[in-house]
Amino acid sequence: MSERPVTIITGSSRGIGRAAAELLAARGHRVVISSRNQESCEQVAEAIRGAGGEAVAIACHVGQDEQLEALVDGTVEAFGRIDHLVLNAASNPVYGPSDNVDRKAFDVIMHNNVFGSLRLSHLVRPHIAGAGGGAVVLVSSIAGLLGNRVIGAYGMSKAAENQLVRNLALEFGGDGIRVNGVAPGLIRTDFSRALLADERAVKHFEATTPLGRIGEPDDIARVIAFLVGPDSAWLSGQIITADGGITVTGGF
Ligand code: NAP
Repeated sequence: MSERPVTIITGSSRGIGRAAAELLAARGHRVVISSRNQESCEQVAEAIRGAGGEAVAIACHVGQDEQLEALVDGTVEAFGRIDHLVLNAASNPVYGPSDNVDRKAFDVIMHNNVFGSLRLSHLVRPHIAGAGGGAVVLVSSIAGLLGNRVIGAYGMSKAAENQLVRNLALEFGGDGIRVNGVAPGLIRTDFSRALLADERAVKHFEATTPLGRIGEPDDIARVIAFLVGPDSAWLSGQIITADGGITVTGGF
């Protein structure tokens, strides 16, 4: 690839998405910063440009079809091509037992997390194919691999996302597009703030995790960089668990 790769990262105004965008920009990618809030995306893009990288900000709610189309069109307009997509944004409006999950909340979770990822993947496919192939990386969760008493519906969406990775790997492989996922364990971001505010839960996680600590956004950003990069050229349809080892203990 002669030109610098162009990579869209959804949900990159903070947390794992931001860490991935900053790492990829530092490694020479031209990055598209995206979340529902244009101003916070602009701030991240500005910080990346300030550090010598290349970035644009395009707000997009992953549950809204027209905004997904505008994200793809805006990327092509800004950079002329798309090489990689990181499907990182996700919704989880419910915390608690599954009888707290009404139809509306369930629909939001499944629509944003699963259908939004499916739709955006199809929108970028011809562009990545036209650029000679590339990678789609989905940020899943160990909540899609294990039973969970408090984020069960979200876990169901992550399990569906894992299957989406396998299906798209089959469908996109002929275009030279690799599709893989990373399933993080607990990572210190706004998303996990409620859990991390509980000191007892944090101590429990640290004690249960073989590597003895809570994950940081950079721990996942590095796996994402591996999955878009040439070192994973022979990987497709895989979900890499990156959790400090907690799943081998049987979970939480
Ligand atoms: P975070 O720090 O809360 O960041 C979430 C990002 O997504 C923000 O940029 C947010 O910006 C954006 N976003 C939220 N809803 C969106 C929507 N509907 N459309 C577009 N953008 C949206 O969360 P995170 O922990 O980095 O989570 C990123 C991914 O990691 C998610 O897929 C999550 O399921 C997964 N994950 C996280 C953990 C963890 O412990 N943190 C563990 C396993 C998996 P706006 O609010 O401005 O839109």
